[in-house]
Amino acid sequence: MDTIIAVDIGGTQMRAASYAPDKLKPIKQKKIATLASEPGGLERLTRVIEEVWPNGDKVAAIGLASPGPLDPHTGYLLAPPNNPEWRNFPLAPRVSEHFGVQAFLDNDANLAALGEYRFGAGKGHHDVMYITVSTGIGAGVIIQDRLLQGFHGLAAELGHSIIDPDGPLCSCGFNGHLEAFSSGPAIVKYVLGELEAGTKSSMRRPRRGKREGNLTPREVAEAARQGDALAIQAYRRAGEYLGIGVASFLHAFDPSIVIFGGGVSQAGSLLFDPFHESLKKRVFHPRYLEGLVITTAELGDDAGLLGARALAEMKASS
Ligand SMILES: [Zn+2]
Repeated sequence: MDTIIAVDIGGTQMRAASYAPDKLKPIKQKKIATLASEPGGLERLTRVIEEVWPNGDKVAAIGLASPGPLDPHTGYLLAPPNNPEWRNFPLAPRVSEHFGVQAFLDNDANLAALGEYRFGAGKGHHDVMYITVSTGIGAGVIIQDRLLQGFHGLAAELGHSIIDPDGPLCSCGFNGHLEAFSSGPAIVKYVLGELEAGTKSSMRRPRRGKREGNLTPREVAEAARQGDALAIQAYRRAGEYLGIGVASFLHAFDPSIVIFGGGVSQAGSLLFDPFHESLKKRVFHPRYLEGLVITTAELGDDAGLLGARALAEMKASS
């Protein structure tokens, strides 16, 4: 097969790389600032692709990873946060037109899942569930070696699964989604609420008028490791709800491996001890857990890029 080009359009950086078939290391790679709120996004994107274009070789396809919501079937971005210019924007068709090469788009979580499945922790598995626990909760599902995209291309939004319709507000505007219980901001919000209510802790409430960002999930994890009861409880609660969510996901998808990515997953046993306890209690048949691998992601920041590559390879060869 000819060269594949992959781009990961992140909130702060656009990263592009070109790959020869069967080689994990890129031929060329380049990153530039995304500058999402400034005009000229498509020009920056085409420029970074030009920078990694192979000399003389043919390019088979271009894979694009971007935050959603988007339509992978048409290659349109629907309503990217912080980027009014790309609202209802035909991103993949424009890139394809510009370079005369087919281009494919999917969201960063789906492609991180695909990257881990092809090149990372999920290698050798056919049924893979990937969950990133970070500022939000994103996910991707591979069933019998196929990325689950769905009719509208909106499948596997597991972070927006309804855990409790009367629960806390989610970033999407609805109540009680998994993300509103177990993401980084959800952990911080819980701590702040408890501090407000007078719960004793070594953690301090940021002074009024300061941003909530003064307390980070990492600082809560640090306080928990020092034995702070409220911090431990905040992670316990997040892990408990994560177990409730994942139990339902096992019932729906029955994967052989669950891969956790994202910064909050790095809290280790603080999150995962209560998670495992909760999961075990909630699967309705123990068979779901037999041989199930639960592990952390291997590709780090490269997962989206390698997933975009895997998408382009799959589409180009099908
Ligand atoms: Zn939500």
